[in-house]
Amino acid sequence: MRIGSKMGHIENILTVDVEDWYMTTDISRWGEFEDRVIASTERMLSILGDTKATFFVLGYVAEHHPELISLIHDCGHELGTHGYSHKPIQSQTPDQFEEELLKSMEIIKSITGVKVCGHRACQASVMKSTSWSIDIMERCGIEYDSSVFPVKTPLYGVPDAPLFPYRISSENICGESKGRICEFPLSVRKLPYKNIPIAGGFYLRLFPYWFIKNSIEKINKKREPAVIYLHPWEIDLEQPKSPEFKWYHYYNLPAMEPKIKQLLKDFKFTSIREWLHG
Ligand SMILES: [Zn+2]
Repeated sequence: MRIGSKMGHIENILTVDVEDWYMTTDISRWGEFEDRVIASTERMLSILGDTKATFFVLGYVAEHHPELISLIHDCGHELGTHGYSHKPIQSQTPDQFEEELLKSMEIIKSITGVKVCGHRACQASVMKSTSWSIDIMERCGIEYDSSVFPVKTPLYGVPDAPLFPYRISSENICGESKGRICEFPLSVRKLPYKNIPIAGGFYLRLFPYWFIKNSIEKINKKREPAVIYLHPWEIDLEQPKSPEFKWYHYYNLPAMEPKIKQLLKDFKFTSIREWLHG
């Protein structure tokens, strides 16, 4: 039986990766940039209103802005970890990955008092080559992950991964297994020869709204949830323009907030914890 199918619900899953606009650079440089994560996350919270989401927070952000983490928690959202320093898993050793994971979980728990159960890797970096990270997540008490992207790109992706929530394990990253961790793959639209990412970040800004809406409706017709991901910096139109960041960082930013508001009107969303446990 598929995860969640017994509940018969088709609520979709809303996630927010809490990182500042410059955190694709190395952590050693983060002091050089203007800090904007508090204002942009507060704006995201006000856009969401009563809709609950899972906020995957970088340990670094939680450590530097504990009051922001308390605010997200007090608004009733779930807190998960996005690692500590925003390094893709393939750039870390297993020991470094474990250390960062535990450190970020402890920082977040020390602020909210609630155990962290969910993980999202930087750059969808749970892939075949990094499947060892799933054993470490299990050992550290992670119950679910949302990092697998069933697409083929030069940087990331597991093109043959299941499209909807499933049990993942390090031996079988692409199919149902007896693993303890539930995987929530990022949503794609299945075409005959390839899967197209539809539901987050750059892709949400890129595609016209009717295409996103139609793709989510197709997913919900199968009685499965769409998994959407957003970044607070994507609704920050005042962020500095720096040639260091590629064109796609800034692409169509003004479209993001209206699209999020329309999604909230057209679909039901909730956090991963609520989706799993009701
Ligand atoms: Zn990120």
